[in-house]
Amino acid sequence: MAESLLQLRGLTKHFTTRSPKGKAMVQAVDDLYLDVYEGETLGLVGESGCGKTTTAQLIVGLTTPTRGHVSLEGNDLAELGGKARKLARRQLQYIFQDPNDSLDPRMKVRAIVSEGLRAQGRIGKPELTDKVAEVLSQVGLPVDAMDRFPHEFSGGQRQRIGIARALIMRPRLIVADEPISALDVSVQSQILNLMGDLKRELGLTYVFVAHNLAAVGYISDRIAVMYLGRIVEVGPVEDIMTAPQHPYTQALLSAIPDPDVSAERKARIRLSGDVPGPIDPPSGCRFRTRCPLAEPRCAEEVPFLKPRGAGKAGRGHMSACHLVRSQ
Ligand code: SF4
Repeated sequence: MAESLLQLRGLTKHFTTRSPKGKAMVQAVDDLYLDVYEGETLGLVGESGCGKTTTAQLIVGLTTPTRGHVSLEGNDLAELGGKARKLARRQLQYIFQDPNDSLDPRMKVRAIVSEGLRAQGRIGKPELTDKVAEVLSQVGLPVDAMDRFPHEFSGGQRQRIGIARALIMRPRLIVADEPISALDVSVQSQILNLMGDLKRELGLTYVFVAHNLAAVGYISDRIAVMYLGRIVEVGPVEDIMTAPQHPYTQALLSAIPDPDVSAERKARIRLSGDVPGPIDPPSGCRFRTRCPLAEPRCAEEVPFLKPRGAGKAGRGHMSACHLVRSQ
């Protein structure tokens, strides 16, 4: 089995917040294990508040874990020293959800796109201009865009600027946090196609975060489904989209409008109730309060990811449900 590029091991993020009853512990991400392989797009999907954005931020170091490790090719980023850590961090870049919020309106595109590069050390103005021009061209923007301000661009163009800002660092892996959810439907597919083209041309690896399973299914090679801070299912895109094992994934899939899917199949899993909060989540299986198949055991025992088929962990299909048997 090929070694993965990125390894998440026991990744956990808890933080305290104020609640009506006083201080409370938010379990945003809990004991998460995941591998991301070079050259793939891993879709990370789940409802709002499931911990996917926190996971994305943990990967690139925008927040630090409470427990657990983020490793690049087996090197724990928290244990790397100054220069090695800087180099490793440079290989992991982030595309923010909302280009309107993430681009400083007072800065010209040249300064926005080159900010990370300038922070890394001294670089001459001509070289900087060349590098900015190159990445603007890679994302389909004219070179003279560098002398304009963000408000002079459409939403889709602003997201291209956000992508250029990540690309200029020559990353190996880009974490894209809901990169199309703030855009008009008409430009969403353009951004997805651009990301696909860049992946092929530059050999990139993506972690693509979204709440929309249809968009994730379109761009991903593998999909990991999150619920209330945990991965409940992970596997190749075909398996997840056509033969989901976990009741939550089945429910997400049945919510996608598709005239070719029979009403009987779409009605297979209907969820009731809101997602419980990450403060004091349900015991055992966190999905049990909404799961139509829950049984007493589900309140007692935490279900862990199990592979379908002996020895098929790694890139194989795994789900965390007491009722799913290995085949
Ligand atoms: Fe439902 Fe139980 Fe499976 Fe959780 S472990 S998904 S509650 S059947």
